[in-house]
Amino acid sequence: MKTAEEYLESLRSLQIKVYMFGELIENVVDHPIIRPSINAVARTYELAHEPEHEELMSAVSSISGKQINRFTHLHQGVEDLIKKIKMQRLLGQETATCFQRCVGFDAFNAVDIVTYEMDEALGTNYHQKFRKYLRGVQEEDLMVDGAMTDPKGNRSLRPSQQVDPDLYLRVVEKREDGIVVKGAKAHQTGALASHEILVMPTIAMDVGEEDYAVCFAVPSNSEGIIYVYGRQPSDTRKLEGGSIDVGNCQYGGHETLIIFENVFVPWERVFMCGEQQFSGNLVERFAGYHRQSYGGCKAGLGDVLIGATAQVAEYNGTQRASHVRDKIIEMIHLNETLYACGIACSSQGNATASGTYLIDLLLANVCKQNVTRYPYEIARLAEDIAGGLMVTLPSEKDFQHPEAGKYLRKYLQGVDGVPTENRARILRLIENITMGLAAVGYRTESMHGAGSPQAQRIMISRQSDLEAKKNLARRIAGIS
Ligand code: SF4
Ligand code: FE
Repeated sequence: MKTAEEYLESLRSLQIKVYMFGELIENVVDHPIIRPSINAVARTYELAHEPEHEELMSAVSSISGKQINRFTHLHQGVEDLIKKIKMQRLLGQETATCFQRCVGFDAFNAVDIVTYEMDEALGTNYHQKFRKYLRGVQEEDLMVDGAMTDPKGNRSLRPSQQVDPDLYLRVVEKREDGIVVKGAKAHQTGALASHEILVMPTIAMDVGEEDYAVCFAVPSNSEGIIYVYGRQPSDTRKLEGGSIDVGNCQYGGHETLIIFENVFVPWERVFMCGEQQFSGNLVERFAGYHRQSYGGCKAGLGDVLIGATAQVAEYNGTQRASHVRDKIIEMIHLNETLYACGIACSSQGNATASGTYLIDLLLANVCKQNVTRYPYEIARLAEDIAGGLMVTLPSEKDFQHPEAGKYLRKYLQGVDGVPTENRARILRLIENITMGLAAVGYRTESMHGAGSPQAQRIMISRQSDLEAKKNLARRIAGIS
């Protein structure tokens, strides 16, 4: 397993092509806007070496028998699925942001299952190629971006009906030694912190859309790949220096648009090419795993937000007000409900034909559907208790100014004995999670990450067997 230091060093050598604010970024790893998200991924490497977290953070590889970072593991039982959720909650607590590494993790497990099924049905050899690839990932302890979401253009048109055929990523050339792909993947979490990109189709493809049914892995620095950094609220605060106004002193997340401009992929890295009838399976499984994930990571982040809210109540002197106590209980109830869903869909998991365990898909979709709602309510309650100062607080530099700072410390004091700076720090953290930098990960990502709410509702309707429920009712009511 790589150490955090080795991980950082390995990223430095990649030299990927990244645009931000209209400029090419020279040093991605040390860029003040990007670095916090790399720090969050580095934490997934660091914790795996800490004895008290080893059990959650590492696993024994089912492929090589060696100890590996859990983020590269294939789930070998229900216990692994549960440990995944616990690991994600831990990392959410540790970083208070999206630590990005779960997307590749979820992609490994989904691709493993589907390549096996494809080979069984069609006599292809994708599974063996994928296992070989994953063995390399495990041994090198790589961070892999699982890339699913296509730009999609006009949503009322199929991929093959778009005026611009590149709006869904596709194969543009098949050669003897590999394929050439063109298109883009949007909202790619952790792309700049990744060694590899594992690309999957974004929807179930129809007959005639075989070019779009493609799954492959490429090094993140492959020829023809371009990244454009996605802005986040208050992102330039990271350029100001200081440690208060950013809210989270060390960690962050990021998303990018990844452009594939005629990228070559050798055959040994291609895990689906034209088998459109299996593309829907891959999407469903990957989405299922990532909907499970949110029951862990968002609960961990929620723990930090609840803690910050209880802390600011103490700083404000409101902690004994009965409505404040009740609101905090409500936040805990909502947060634990998300976790309970993550644990539930894991504990009801089952082995698939490849041996890799899959979560209960209905419960995983219920989990994510709750995530599209509860963090919003938790954030609302946090804002309620924090008070308006969270959004009217002057800058860190004003606090440092000899004249202004003196007045700020005097008039923005809460209860006696607590430095005004502590109050400012906690308010900035709440701002960061509810409407600032981490709000991408806690709020909007809760809505759209791992699929927008309607995508879960479709899966819930498909998985819930309404006919069986009608049968139950008829029998109880005495209808033969
Ligand atoms: Fe992991 Fe959560 Fe970020 Fe997805 S949103 S990559 S599950 S931390
Ligand atoms: Fe996500």
